[in-house]
Amino acid sequence: MVITRKVLRNVSLTAHPLGCRRHVEDQIAWVKNPKGSLYSPAPNRMPARVLVIGGSTGYGLSSRIVAAFGGGADTINVSFEREPGEKKTATPGWYNTKVFEEHARKSNLRAFSVFGDAFSDEVKEETADLIEKEFGQVDLIVYSLASPVRIDPRTGATYRSVLKPIGKPYSALSVNLDDPTITKETIEPATVEQTEETVKVMGGEDWKLWIDLLDRRNLLAEGAVTVAFSYIGPEVTYPVYREGTIGKAKEDLEKTAGVLSKTLKAYVSVNKALVTRASAVIPVVPLYMALLYAVMSEQGIHEQCTEQIWRLFTDRLYAGIPVPTDKEGRIRLDDWEMDPLIQAAVQGRWDMQREGKPLKGGNLALVRQEYDRIHGFGYEEIDYEADVDPRVV
Ligand code: NAD
Repeated sequence: MVITRKVLRNVSLTAHPLGCRRHVEDQIAWVKNPKGSLYSPAPNRMPARVLVIGGSTGYGLSSRIVAAFGGGADTINVSFEREPGEKKTATPGWYNTKVFEEHARKSNLRAFSVFGDAFSDEVKEETADLIEKEFGQVDLIVYSLASPVRIDPRTGATYRSVLKPIGKPYSALSVNLDDPTITKETIEPATVEQTEETVKVMGGEDWKLWIDLLDRRNLLAEGAVTVAFSYIGPEVTYPVYREGTIGKAKEDLEKTAGVLSKTLKAYVSVNKALVTRASAVIPVVPLYMALLYAVMSEQGIHEQCTEQIWRLFTDRLYAGIPVPTDKEGRIRLDDWEMDPLIQAAVQGRWDMQREGKPLKGGNLALVRQEYDRIHGFGYEEIDYEADVDPRVV
């Protein structure tokens, strides 16, 4: 079939197998040879056996790639995927995982995946069995789920996460990935139940269930580390992010790191705003990213997930003891994004935007290019008119 790009309200409905291959192979190539003076070499001490929960796209995929190809780790990924059919493309994560595992095998690295609902008891037990059988124990657990829904395994209740402000409506300028015209978006506030549900889905409860299970089954190696990802961002996005429903969930995640610290070394890493399948649908964020990407690439410090995670491993988690954190004990990979000079430049450009007018001073093309590439589109050397089998990556 001919696989074309189909994006509806910043959600991509298709993925191209050959482009996903390229996306993963580019990341592997970078990790094998990190370029530029900004990046330290891999430290001597890297984790040998790594579990990545949500390791098929975005920050989780990069964590798997850095662990394996930067540190020689054997890895297990747990992710939720749609399989391809004769006339149906798979999720990008399915293609990414196949390509990752092909390269891992070629490099004599062991790599396994559990495809299913990470929130369920069955998938947790299946993963624990796999760790026991193949690895004995794990040295690092990366928790990188981004999901709109969670079924609580205890009660069977379904919870949905929403991206909304709390208390009052929020109006702000925004932009669509496919149209540089500035629009105004108003988002109604969440109900109390919606806020609680978002915390249930994106907070720390499930992370703790994972660690408790691995601990109970004696699968955590001596000195094991776990890390989950958070975001703070600038004040313009506070009402919809940090002070909104997702911010409440992130506060809960950050508190959970404190609780888990009794069992192992547990961290929350605050990462940079980047286009992923999860972040593109947060209102206002695409406009912020278009401005941020422009400013950071002009300064030569724009990063993607791979570079961020490279710094997480080399300059933070495995740089030596103690791990560098902020006063609240959080790892900050958003340090360059939140630099006051970068933020002042972004704010200056934000103030130039007018509803109904084209975006000024932003780099929407770069945001869109990255969005396309995480779905396997936008690579010049790939013939997107060609007939391909969506089942073959
Ligand atoms: P993503 O959409 O690229 O990746 C999410 C991963 O979770 C995928 O592997 C997906 O398969 C998996 N997943 C989702 N639901 C699942 C389920 N029920 N069972 C198993 N796997 C499931 O998202 P991302 O942006 O890389 O987000 C990962 C984490 O990083 C999130 O906590 C997010 O809040 C955080 N973060 C993201 C940004 C950003 O700008 N993208 C910034 C800072 C922090």
